[in-house]
Amino acid sequence: MGSSGTPDQPLRVAIVGSGPSGFYAAGHLLKSKSHPDLNIQVDVYDRLPTPWGLVRGGVAPDHPNIKAVSRVYEKTAAHPEFRFYGNVEYGRDVTHEDLHARYHAVIYAVGAQTDRRMGIPGEDLPGSWAATEFVAWYNGHPDYRELEFDLSSERAIVIGNGNVAADVARMLALTREELAQTDVADHALDVLAESGIKEIVVLGRRGPAQVAFTNPELLELGEMTDADVVVDPRDIEVDPLSRRWLESEAASAAARKNVDILTGYAGRAPAGRRRRIVLRFMVSPLELLGEDHVEGIRICRNELREQDGGLRACSTDTIEELGCGIVFRSIGYRGTPLEGLPFEERRGTIPNEGGRILDEQGGPLRGDYVVGWIKRGPTGIIGTNKRDAQETVDVVLADLDAGRLNDPADPSRETLEELLAERAPDHVTYTGWEAIDSVEKAAGEPHGRPRVKLTRTEELLEAARARALGVKPARPRARRPKRPAPAPGKPRCR
Ligand SMILES: Cc1cc2nc3c(=O)[nH]c(=O)nc-3n(C[C@H](O)[C@H](O)[C@H](O)COP(=O)(O)OP(=O)(O)OC[C@H]3O[C@@H](n4cnc5c(N)ncnc54)[C@H](O)[C@@H]3O)c2cc1C
Repeated sequence: MGSSGTPDQPLRVAIVGSGPSGFYAAGHLLKSKSHPDLNIQVDVYDRLPTPWGLVRGGVAPDHPNIKAVSRVYEKTAAHPEFRFYGNVEYGRDVTHEDLHARYHAVIYAVGAQTDRRMGIPGEDLPGSWAATEFVAWYNGHPDYRELEFDLSSERAIVIGNGNVAADVARMLALTREELAQTDVADHALDVLAESGIKEIVVLGRRGPAQVAFTNPELLELGEMTDADVVVDPRDIEVDPLSRRWLESEAASAAARKNVDILTGYAGRAPAGRRRRIVLRFMVSPLELLGEDHVEGIRICRNELREQDGGLRACSTDTIEELGCGIVFRSIGYRGTPLEGLPFEERRGTIPNEGGRILDEQGGPLRGDYVVGWIKRGPTGIIGTNKRDAQETVDVVLADLDAGRLNDPADPSRETLEELLAERAPDHVTYTGWEAIDSVEKAAGEPHGRPRVKLTRTEELLEAARARALGVKPARPRARRPKRPAPAPGKPRCR
């Protein structure tokens, strides 16, 4: 081998997953500065009929400017040697063996498909949800559209102090008019707009200096049209350990700014808006209470202790109970294993070195690479995946130069398409996605919405097929906005 990437034999690369990391990897490969004359073909797969991963299915609907990053990916997709195969699932429709028989390199960009659990009693009661489920539901992910969220109680609890927790709190507090300007899934619009929730309590296990919100997300909570942000001044007193850390060079400017923002919130008098977002710190959930449904939560007060070079939250004997009807845990996403590949259970990632997947002995698996959240864990913003993808693409191209890529038996596009026609006859090409995109945008346009999402796989496939057959697909109907304690034990440190 070693002759791929030449005029006679294009370098064939498969990317499994069409979220930011997959698309950045495709873009870097198709426009490689180090290999400007490379003859390359890039095929991107996704288990959904639609591309963009969490940009479509995670980023909050009221953040259209962030969703607009997809324009960058559209430019990559316009490259003549790019192909999209949506509605094709790795592990179900295509296997490791199938891809290795057809590609010189496979890059896995599957993200983190599940969430971390709290591991406390009552976690499985009805009314206890993973933020992942709620987010996927309001963003119209087909696998989650049938979920039913009961928002009739007065208080919701959100556990976690990161941006996803902030998104969940905001989505619970937006007004109908605000929601109706977004691409929130229609099935979620009415449920959210008619919610009876008056108070959203966001619980953080550590103090204001340690929150993981970015500054803009925290600021947004203080700018809601119809919700007051409430912080108890006693709750944000910075403890001596955190104070010392904030004054040291180790503290980031963002952490200092977060403390300033929260101090500002603590000095605000509520303006009597319809809802309240209450930010609480130094508390951890111990148990969700209720017989057949969540009726409350038992929490304990924490204190910070220095441990293993960091500040850990350790439980104290001070216990409190709060009534609530729904709980969202937002304590992190988690990757899941993929057929034919090693998996690092503890971190929920695929073991790798700079993007090269490692086998159990720690040696590189020939032709297998990884990028994005499944490579480094569920951290970082969309832009983080751009740098990350560059690192992975650099090792793919270094392995090309060194003759260390996979040697596929049949690297032709024609036989691949034959395989897909047999295994995944309903696959969606990029043209099919463009048809879906235009149907959704056209349905949103009369209502001043960016799009009205198709949320059933069948509807998505029908819209994709209609273009191929020259048929006018049915438009999704847009909704018009209507008028308006456990025994104290040994401290647990996390
Ligand atoms: C709720 C939420 C909100 C966020 N908001 C922001 C924000 O406002 N701003 C920001 O900068 N960042 C935000 N992020 C972070 C950002 O979304 C991630 O950094 C980014 O999406 C990670 O990219 P990825 O490609 O690794 O994974 P993903 O975006 O998850 O993409 C993975 C893709 O792989 C596909 N896939 C999975 N398994 C298979 C399989 N077996 N076969 C084929 N395809 C498969 C999935 O369908 C998906 O399309 C947010 C994250 C979340 C969870």
